[in-house]
Amino acid sequence: MDLLRRYGGDAKVLAGGQSLMPLLNFRLSYPAALVDINRITALSYIQHEVGQLRIGALTRQRTIEFSALVREHLPLLYEATTLVGHLPIRTRGTIGGSLAHADPAAEYPAVATAMEAELVVQGSKGQRILRPEEFFVSYLTTALAPDEVLVEVRFPTPPPTSGWAFAEFARRHGDFALVGIAALLDSEGERCRRALSWSSLTVISTPQLNSAVISPAS
Ligand SMILES: Cc1cc2nc3c(=O)[nH]c(=O)nc-3n(C[C@H](O)[C@H](O)[C@H](O)COP(=O)(O)OP(=O)(O)OC[C@H]3O[C@@H](n4cnc5c(N)ncnc54)[C@H](O)[C@@H]3O)c2cc1C
Repeated sequence: MDLLRRYGGDAKVLAGGQSLMPLLNFRLSYPAALVDINRITALSYIQHEVGQLRIGALTRQRTIEFSALVREHLPLLYEATTLVGHLPIRTRGTIGGSLAHADPAAEYPAVATAMEAELVVQGSKGQRILRPEEFFVSYLTTALAPDEVLVEVRFPTPPPTSGWAFAEFARRHGDFALVGIAALLDSEGERCRRALSWSSLTVISTPQLNSAVISPAS
């Protein structure tokens, strides 16, 4: 936090580097400093608590893919993770990096939005908990202040009777999706939460379409 504050917005957090390093290579980003968080092991964990799974921001996508807890409690997240790039990318890439990068074509912003996850953000002034619609502002833009770091994502665990689906269209397996959708159907069929992910400005949540799916007759 001190380093980020010292550079006042001219420093970049380095997590898995799978999005940041290409940006640096192409000179699309040229921060004065990189703050490497890879040795903060306390930011890498998957914990199950009553009603939620808490995932540390530095948890690698590959760890999420192979987590029995994720498979059992968050099958939507598991399914989406298998579609993130290729094995070497998932081995380095982190959940926090993907969310903080805020690429609307990425899988995790859509899953976080559909699941109404909580994004825990730590800054020099304390902690904030943001909903996805507060966190994602626009294309590659979040509500993170220059001295703030995403530290944890809290996913509510849906009841086992809930329905879910993740589908996307990409030109080749492992490519970013041209369009994708994450959907979660509450048990009893009372509510359908959905988020579209594609190459527009940001993830689009579609609660207004609920009535099209959850009709009185269904
Ligand atoms: C060839 C290729 C294909 C890919 N395909 C896909 C794909 O199909 N789907 C997909 O979703 N992604 C894809 N990715 C991106 C990949 O998922 C990245 O891992 C992810 O976007 C960023 O995670 P990272 O940990 O590597 O973050 P980094 O690259 O280290 O950082 C990304 C950004 O987030 C910031 N940041 C990182 N962590 C934090 C934090 N904890 N708090 C605040 N800011 C932070 C960094 O400062 C930077 O601005 C692909 C990448 C490559 C190279």
